[in-house]
Amino acid sequence: MLYRPFGQTGKRVSVIGAGCMRFETPQNDRDIGRAAETLLHAHARGINYFDTAPYYCGDRSEDIVGAAVRQLKPGTFYLSSKCDKADGAAFRKGLERSLQRLGVDRIHFFHIWCLMNPTQWAERKDRGAVREALRAKEEGLIEHLVFSSHMDGEETAAVIAEGIFEGVTLGFNAANFRFRRSALEAAARAGLGVVTMNPLAGGLIPAHPKRFDFIREKNDPDVVTAALRFNLSHAAITCALVGFRNPADVDSALAALDEFAPRTDAEIARVERHLEEGFDGLCTGCEYCLPCPADIPIPRMMDSYNMLILEGEKKAVQERLHWQWSLDQTVAGQCTECGACEERCTQHLPIIRRLKEIRAL
Ligand code: SF4
Ligand code: SF4
Repeated sequence: MLYRPFGQTGKRVSVIGAGCMRFETPQNDRDIGRAAETLLHAHARGINYFDTAPYYCGDRSEDIVGAAVRQLKPGTFYLSSKCDKADGAAFRKGLERSLQRLGVDRIHFFHIWCLMNPTQWAERKDRGAVREALRAKEEGLIEHLVFSSHMDGEETAAVIAEGIFEGVTLGFNAANFRFRRSALEAAARAGLGVVTMNPLAGGLIPAHPKRFDFIREKNDPDVVTAALRFNLSHAAITCALVGFRNPADVDSALAALDEFAPRTDAEIARVERHLEEGFDGLCTGCEYCLPCPADIPIPRMMDSYNMLILEGEKKAVQERLHWQWSLDQTVAGQCTECGACEERCTQHLPIIRRLKEIRAL
């Protein structure tokens, strides 16, 4: 196992972390025990970062993680959990519930969870969540305060610049890294630990191995291995989360570390060039189309439209808009057809037509 320092916290974290969101929803204690066995296997193989949250696995993920860590020696693992409440009292209640379900008296990494846009970040501060989190840190209930972001690179970088956090969790993978690279650079400058979620682009990469074959280097047996290695090739990334369903998932993720050698800058640039040049019809997330005078988040809309090209299903577009970006298709109706974005689009995409298609879904 490889370990990297988590920012300036003094902790060393395994480069692959256990994402605890993919276990089947437990129906009874035996199911919880079985899922916990997977985490014990991950720990035995050197994984020391367990990322859980309320709601995951039918709201039982924290129970599963709690069942696992009760069997482990303290000091040999780090727990990460989260709260998405803006209200201070609700945040505190959520934290106390997590502590109770995990069966611990402090959580190593606790997240201000799931910032989708700067307005939400302002709310977490204005309504007391951040104040409560800092108080809990002073009390020793939280060791390190971190946040998770679905915002674009610049918006995430702006939160980092406020100096409140010791780490950030964000989506970063071979398909979207251009969206998020500035956040990674900001985190590195500020000395934050970085945990990446979604290294397989929400299943997009393994579901379309031929389309993503270009991310493979010579010694990568498949696109999944290549995607993990691509992620970990960025020195600013401390740990990439992989959602495990069973011990075999653990072993297959860890196989990516066998003979792992970080990609060179030239190899990363080659992937970027391919995204620019070779992905005919796909939005590559470069953001050159912005700004839009109607404030339409064009890259997010076009990223969602990618799902129609890759998966051929309208439903996949709606799900991407909703779950990845917290948008719905009515936003597309704000387009005034000024054409400014199409003039700037590096992929020469028919953005106006695609927005109309999204609106009509
Ligand atoms: S054409 Fe529509 S989406 Fe493009 S910049 Fe103009 S208003 Fe925005
Ligand atoms: S310029 Fe084109 S390819 Fe780049 S983000 Fe905008 S729509 Fe996507």
